[in-house]
Amino acid sequence: RKLGIALVGLGQYSEGQLAPALEKTTNCRLAGIVTGTPDKAEKWKSKYSIPEKNIYDYKTFDKIADNPDIDIVYVVLPNSMHAEYVIRAAKAGKHVICEKPMAMNAEECQQMIDACKKANRQLSIGYRLHFEPHNQEMMRLGQKETFGKINRIVAENGQVQDESSPWRLGRGVGGGGPVRDVGVYCIQGAIYTKGQIPIAVTARKHPVTDTEKFSKIEEGMDFSLYFPDGTIAACKASFNDKYNKLRAEAAKGWFELAPAYAYDGLEGRTSQGKMEIENVPQQAHQMDAFANCILQNKPTTVPGELGKRDVQLIEAIFEAARTGQKVSTKDVVQVLDKS
Ligand code: NAD
Repeated sequence: RKLGIALVGLGQYSEGQLAPALEKTTNCRLAGIVTGTPDKAEKWKSKYSIPEKNIYDYKTFDKIADNPDIDIVYVVLPNSMHAEYVIRAAKAGKHVICEKPMAMNAEECQQMIDACKKANRQLSIGYRLHFEPHNQEMMRLGQKETFGKINRIVAENGQVQDESSPWRLGRGVGGGGPVRDVGVYCIQGAIYTKGQIPIAVTARKHPVTDTEKFSKIEEGMDFSLYFPDGTIAACKASFNDKYNKLRAEAAKGWFELAPAYAYDGLEGRTSQGKMEIENVPQQAHQMDAFANCILQNKPTTVPGELGKRDVQLIEAIFEAARTGQKVSTKDVVQVLDKS
């Protein structure tokens, strides 16, 4: 049987990516929705043939506990709302996928992990690139040291953020900003390419060029991750500039992706030539892999602990930017990425 997924929050990502991806999955299907907007409920109900009994709003959400059609709740809300809905989903006895970044701070992450453990349900983070073959190749080349020891990593992710999601600009429920939103991919890319966890970070905010748009959040941030063997990852995240790259320079050559973090059209090169790798429907692979873990009773490769590690690193980056000091990250969760 295909596991039933309920999407919570029908914004850009659910509508543009996850719902279409769920039409390509083999182990799971779109079974329900949770939305506060009646118009969206009507539209989704007819477009995806969702039965009325599988449609919830934020007040009726907890009743999902009594619905056997829903095996997995996928939280696709603004970042500051992730913790509440993951915990409520776990209490309702459902397995959970939570979008990135996992939460606003490490304490919330731990509460989410604990809630899922207590309910004996799996928690995974919506880290689609772990199921994407170009990024898997970066993991393989880096971790196997195919080009020798990596000396330097460059990870850059920037987009010009419009006003379509006010929370991304720190308004309303907040929880936005480029470090959390797109910088998290640089953190992951650097870690899974190097195969080590940073022991310290430094960071510096970009100068603010649009004081109105960036009154509540950083416009951009340069940050460096320091690995135990001395390798540095030079990272950059922005909401006011475009870049999309993951590059590793090693003793015997280099390898890189550009774009590295997109939904499609990723391209890879090494010092020996082009990577001949096909693009795949990333979110379909990600959701199928999680459903498969549940069906086969195996742990997910992108668990809550991985999300917590990255949130701890984000917190350290903000502290480093605030204090101007190098901040130790030796206490972050010591969990490494697997493809
Ligand atoms: P969005 O603003 O388009 O959608 C957010 C949804 O939450 C909207 O439908 C909105 O109505 C709903 N919502 C419910 N209560 C709300 C409240 N109080 N304030 C604001 N919105 C409220 O955002 P999105 O782009 O769909 O992002 C949602 C989540 O998905 C975020 O955590 C984001 O980081 C993540 N995301 C992940 C990826 C990825 O590649 N993995 C890509 C895009 C977004």
